[in-house]
Amino acid sequence: MRKKFMQLNSILLRVGMNMLMSIWTSIAMFIFLLIHSWVNRRLDKDEIELIRAILWFGMIQLLSIGASSFWMEFSLEREEMRRKIKYAEHLNTLGELAASMAHEVRNPLTVIKGFLQMVQSGLEGKNRRYIALALAEVDRAERIISDYLNLSRPQIGNTELMDLSGMVQQIVLLLKPMATKQGVRLYTELRNEIYVHMDRNQLLQALIHVTKNAIEAADDGGRVYIKLAIQEEKACLHIRDTGKGMSQEHLERVGTLFFSTKEVGTGLGTVVSFRIIEAMNGSIHYESEPGVGTEVVILLPLAQESMLVAEG
Ligand code: ADP
Ligand code: MG
Repeated sequence: MRKKFMQLNSILLRVGMNMLMSIWTSIAMFIFLLIHSWVNRRLDKDEIELIRAILWFGMIQLLSIGASSFWMEFSLEREEMRRKIKYAEHLNTLGELAASMAHEVRNPLTVIKGFLQMVQSGLEGKNRRYIALALAEVDRAERIISDYLNLSRPQIGNTELMDLSGMVQQIVLLLKPMATKQGVRLYTELRNEIYVHMDRNQLLQALIHVTKNAIEAADDGGRVYIKLAIQEEKACLHIRDTGKGMSQEHLERVGTLFFSTKEVGTGLGTVVSFRIIEAMNGSIHYESEPGVGTEVVILLPLAQESMLVAEG
């Protein structure tokens, strides 16, 4: 029964269950006593004294079990909290280590890239293709490194006033070749004059990660819809795909470090996006159904300028 019991998620419910379970001895004693009096057909002073004793016994037991299970719940909670803090500290150290390593690795990569480019220009045929492949991989490594660096300290640089629909158009332009290659069509439903104060590069990076995931999830013939609207006085971006969707378990893990179901995935994209959007006081929320698709809703604080438009 322990498993079932630990699944009860309210503390009061668990304490109540414990208390109920603790008084079965008193009830059993009471029943035995009743049977005894019924068989002997008498209920004199002794029995009444015993009934009183049983009642006291039950009450004391009820209260003491109640108090001790409350105590136990509190210590379990404290233990859980301690574990979480420790885990967060570990992650922090790990993040710093990764960041410094990523930083160190970046410089030699830049040198490798430069020399590969130099060599490439003097080559023909097969060798030239090999170098192109190597260059593409160096590019990928560089991208992963900059994701790592972003992860440990998202640098929100200079924010500027920008029109979100322009940014969505830019994203579509950038990702169209990739989508076409996979047989996925991109649809947009835009609204002009939705302004936000954001770091352009960071936001672009976050939105590209999310949209790329949507394209990757959609199979051949799938569709990705990007819709821009004002919702709850916030700029609202819906990115919906008709892809493979996610199970409840995956849904809970999306946005956590290194969670990836792809063969060559890094599990960094969504983490970076979450960090960037949260650093800009926005929010991001995933909804998904396996086999149907996924919808990502991103809310960003509206700039004053668009409020005027919305009202006017
Ligand atoms: P990666 O793309 O490298 O795997 P991400 O952090 O970008 O890492 O995504 C993590 C995981 O979240 C993906 O591997 C995928 O399983 C899941 N995911 C994210 N977006 C979607 C989506 N639109 N549809 C289905 N699964 C998704
Ligand atoms: Mg991704």
